[in-house]
Amino acid sequence: MDIDHDFDAGSIEVLSADAPDDVALALRGDSDAGFRQWFCFRALGLRGVDARLSIVDASEATYPDAFDGYRVVASYDRRRWFRVPTSYDGERLVIEHTPRTDDVMYAYFAPYPLARRERLLRRAARAPWVRHEVIGRTVLGRELSMLSFGEEGRDKLQLWVVARQHPGETMAEWLAEGLVTRLLDDDDPTVAAVLSRAVVRIVPCMNPDGASLGNHRTNAAGTDLNRAWLQPDAELSPEVLAARGRMEQTGVDAFLDVHGDERNPYCFLAGAEGNPGYGERLRALEDLFETSLCRQSPDFQAEYGYPRDEPGGGDLRTANNYVGEMFDCLSFTVEMPFKDSATMPDEVNGWSPERSMHLGQATLDALEECLDALRE
Ligand SMILES: [Zn+2]
Repeated sequence: MDIDHDFDAGSIEVLSADAPDDVALALRGDSDAGFRQWFCFRALGLRGVDARLSIVDASEATYPDAFDGYRVVASYDRRRWFRVPTSYDGERLVIEHTPRTDDVMYAYFAPYPLARRERLLRRAARAPWVRHEVIGRTVLGRELSMLSFGEEGRDKLQLWVVARQHPGETMAEWLAEGLVTRLLDDDDPTVAAVLSRAVVRIVPCMNPDGASLGNHRTNAAGTDLNRAWLQPDAELSPEVLAARGRMEQTGVDAFLDVHGDERNPYCFLAGAEGNPGYGERLRALEDLFETSLCRQSPDFQAEYGYPRDEPGGGDLRTANNYVGEMFDCLSFTVEMPFKDSATMPDEVNGWSPERSMHLGQATLDALEECLDALRE
């Protein structure tokens, strides 16, 4: 048998792989940073074998309690991902699985492949109402891509969505794909209604370096991009510098920053209530969007989430707070679970790429309901 992690987003350390019923693995840390959580590897030659693969240092992960009630995802074809029996004893994360083929991939969540991103960008750019723009370069010189949907115009509302600042949170890019795909359907009346009044700008992956490197939270320079919005740096966080610079040119009327949450088994929003400039108008806008999204997607709920920030206690280094404050606009972090969703559990798949994409489609309905109120 063999464990392979030498591919896009691959990440694990192999301590011993001599006996398939006692494979010892360890988490690999992010580039130049103390974070460790993401893993993604292939197990070869285990067809029909009762394999037992242990991540022996799971308790030293950045979010060890993330493994309580969590199950690893697996795939034979890299397209369909399902959950496998997983246990966590407070120290080791143990996968017990009998693969049906000799090539199975295991991961923290379904990876979003680089090749898929490139295909989606190409496909989107073929639509006459879509523009693909490289808004900047990453630390390693990769393109940072943005898609703009709808005709430009001075009075158009500017709806911004960025995803996957934290590269291990692949569900964020799956959500972005759902939204992009919907916006490519010009027979969809909601798409027509939104694009008649707004330009939708989507950065499907804010952290292409971290994604390919198999990092969980940081870019190639070891920066947590979602703590870099107040003072982005050309060397350490060029991705944020680029996105922020483009926003200053276009303006922003609504902003969604899409993430995954390691601990909470729910989809939820985190608002900008801790911002100095937060008041009744933004509170009403947040309520409108959240209520609408609850109605549009049964996967979404507003009961469970992060504790609300105290007034003035918002961290302006985060995208949602920074953009909300700077542009005095509706601004949310969107969170989805790594674990199964407790709102609507799925024994086989848990929270999945498909569900993430559906939630992305639903965000357009919720945004559409807010259009009248965005500049009031
Ligand atoms: Zn995140």
